[in-house]
Formats: sequence, C-alpha cells, structure tokens
Amino acid sequence: PVVLGIESSCDETGAGLVRDGRLLGHALASSMDEHARFGGVVPEIAARAHLHSFGPVVRQALDSAGLRMSDIGAVAVTTGPGLSGALQVGLAGAKGLAYALDVPLYGVHHLAGHVAADTLEHGPLPDPCVVLIVSGGHTSLLLVRDLARDPIVHLGETVDDAAGECFDKVARVFGLPYPGGPAIDRVAREGDRRAVALPRPMTGSRDAPYAFSFSGLKTAAARWAEQRRAEGGELPVADGAASLQEAVADVLTRKALAACRDHGVSTLVVVGGVAANSRVRELAEQRCRTAGITLRVPPLRLCTDNGAMIAAVGDLLVRAGAEPAPMDVSIDPSAPLEYAALNPVASRG
Ligand code: ATP
Ligand code: MG
Ligand code: FE
Repeated sequence: PVVLGIESSCDETGAGLVRDGRLLGHALASSMDEHARFGGVVPEIAARAHLHSFGPVVRQALDSAGLRMSDIGAVAVTTGPGLSGALQVGLAGAKGLAYALDVPLYGVHHLAGHVAADTLEHGPLPDPCVVLIVSGGHTSLLLVRDLARDPIVHLGETVDDAAGECFDKVARVFGLPYPGGPAIDRVAREGDRRAVALPRPMTGSRDAPYAFSFSGLKTAAARWAEQRRAEGGELPVADGAASLQEAVADVLTRKALAACRDHGVSTLVVVGGVAANSRVRELAEQRCRTAGITLRVPPLRLCTDNGAMIAAVGDLLVRAGAEPAPMDVSIDPSAPLEYAALNPVASRG
C-alpha cells in the first residue's frame, strides 16, 4: 500500500508518500521565518502553523505523486519526541485521515524517521549498521539492526548540548542569522579552520568512548568571540565558524568511526539536520574511505525534518506486518528511542 507519513514535531509540517521503499512524492511547509525574530522555535506559533499547513501540505504531497486521497493505504505519524502542541496537531490530523479513509495508523519515533530517511535514497539499511544521529536536539551513536523489529542499541550520546544546538547557539553569539547551523556552514567557506584553537571534548574519554559533549566547545567559541571583540576591530566570524565546524566534525566522525571499528560494523549512516553540514560530510567521506567503511548520508532535503522519512518507517512497519496503533494513541514529547515505532514487530530474539 501507499503509506502517507506526517511529521509535525517541531517547525516543519511534512507529508510524504512511500510505497515499497520508494518515495512517490512529498511536501513541506516551515514556520522557521516566524520564529526568526525570537531566535528559536516558539511552541505556540509552531502548533498554529501546523494547523494552518496540514491540509495544504498533504494535498501538495499527493499532487506531487500524482495520487488521490483514496490511494492512501496507511498513515504513519510522528508521536514523539518533539513539541507537545506541534505533535498533537499532526497526530489529530493523521487520526482524522486514517478514520475517514478507514486505513491503519502507525505511530513513529521522530529519530527513527531520521534514520529511515536514508533508505529512500540508498535502499534498505544493512544489518547491522552504526548510525550517527546529529540534529537540533540529539547527538547519538546507535547500533541499528532491523528497524521494524529490533531494539535500537545506544552506544553513546551527548551528555549536554546537541551538535545542532551548539551551532545554533554559537551562531547567535557570532551575530549570524537564525537558524545558525546553515549560517555557520555558509560563512565557514571563507574561513580558516585552523585559525582558532578549540577543544575536542571527550575524545580522550576511555570509559565513555562514544559519548559527546558540546557545551564546553560552545563556551570556548563564545569566549573567543568575546575576547576578540574586547580587543577591538571586527570579529573574524568566518575563521570562528570554520574552526567551530572543524571541531564538531572532527569529534563526530572520530567517534563514529571508532564505533564502527570496535563493533566490526562496515557501514556508517549519518542522519539528522547536522548531516547537512558540508564539513561533517567531507570529513566523514575522507575518514570512511581511509578506514574502508561504507558511508551513507541522505541528500540534504532528507536530512532535516520531513514527512517522507516518517512514511519510510511506516512503509517498513507495514511490510514487516506490524500491528497498527490503537485509535486512542497519544503523543509522547520525550519518547526515548527504544524501538522505531509504538508497536514494533515481535523481535526475532
Ligand atoms: P531533533 O530531530 O533532534 O528533534 P530537529 O528536528 O530540530 O531536532 P533537525 O531538523 O533534524 O533537528 O535539524 C535541525 C538542526 O540542524 C539545527 O540545529 C540546524 O542548525 C542544523 N543544521 C541544518 N543544516 C545545517 C548545516 N548545513 N550545518 C550545520 N548544522 C545544520
Ligand atoms: Mg527545523
Ligand atoms: Fe529532527
């Protein structure tokens, strides 16, 4: 069947249509501009924007696929983690559609969506693979087997800020526009990545080899900016951005490769918004090539939040014969990533 995927956990309203691992069409609306003057996502504004965009985005996704409402055979929706009000709008809409069309509903974990995004471009994930999730709210190294069936093994995660959060916060200190990650990436092209000596947090940590910390790095970058400003003259933002990007990319790829090596895994998948970062991609490519590891990174449009990635998980669940979610299913704003879905297929054990 054609699976409609709905994403509304943060500031993007996304709808995607997937059948048999293939992306048929998708559409996206973002309320990013409405949050810009507040310097971060305002939950109430995000929820209202989802309410506004839900219908049009579903319609656009269908149009882009050349499909009709009646072609939808299942609905998958993000139930968490994310902003409560935002999630509720998406789930309510998805329930309405599933009810009206009399098709099964599947509850999907947002981060499993980020992982599955890559399957739409590169086909089924090898079992096992190491996945580096780097986004606005998460930085984790995972050991992933069968997304529809197996529990996800957490190798390590950030003890404080996420990598995307670090980019966003430092960008603000540097006076760059919101959202900070893409802005840092843009100006870093003109900068020298060796200009500022920034720390590589937790790279020496033997008892937590796959854990990350970005709050110290953020502070170090902010302190550098403060000092340079106190010395007078213009802040060399490009050098600061390039150096910060280098530090983040270095730590992320070093630990991801160590995880592959230590677990005898030959495929690394890098997903989430920060996987869009040009230096993260470049360094991951270089280091994987040297180590003989296959690297998979989804294309930019599938890295950041979208509905196609949720449809991709729904499609895996449908094909694996998972139980649909009950119609009284609710959201879980802080859902831990244990399984990709609310109702995974019973594990092979
Ligand atoms: P989560 O998925 O953890 O709930 P989220 O949905 O807000 O968080 P994503 O949409 O996956 O996160 O990613 C957004 C993050 O990615 C932001 O922090 C943004 O700054 C960052 N980002 C996007 N593009 C780039 C880029 N080119 N370089 C660095 N960071 C980027
Ligand atoms: Mg976003
Ligand atoms: Fe996300």
